[in-house]
Amino acid sequence: MSLEELYREVILDHYRSPRHKGKLEHASAHAEGHNPLCGDEIALDLLVEGGKVTKVAITGQGCSISQASASMMAEAIEGKSLDEVRDLIGKFKAMMDIEGDPKDAGIDPARPGAALGDLEALQGVRKFPVRIKCANLPWTTLEQALEDV
Ligand code: ZN
Repeated sequence: MSLEELYREVILDHYRSPRHKGKLEHASAHAEGHNPLCGDEIALDLLVEGGKVTKVAITGQGCSISQASASMMAEAIEGKSLDEVRDLIGKFKAMMDIEGDPKDAGIDPARPGAALGDLEALQGVRKFPVRIKCANLPWTTLEQALEDV
């Protein structure tokens, strides 16, 4: 299996079986995001306790890239401190920023997602600029939610 096929498998797996799907009854923060270019929608609930994201719940619909990105994001941020979550947002955006200078963002241009674990599977989206908004949607929604905490 090539790396690209492996990435595709990871994305499809998260799309078919989204992690942390649902809503929280007592969320500390909530945000909704919409990507009109593709019709993607994300609704995000966070529970924040003691400076940590202790629970994440997401509902949404749309393309495989947007929904897989949301599912992987939820897995990556649950249990992390707010500082760690903000750091991860920065790294994800740097991976997806095809116009920025990788050196400025402190990433390896040959492997821009190296520090991102499973989320590295989404780095192939860089080759399809119109889909970058799909991959970024959950992350911009997360940034909005963090404004409330
Ligand atoms: Zn999309």
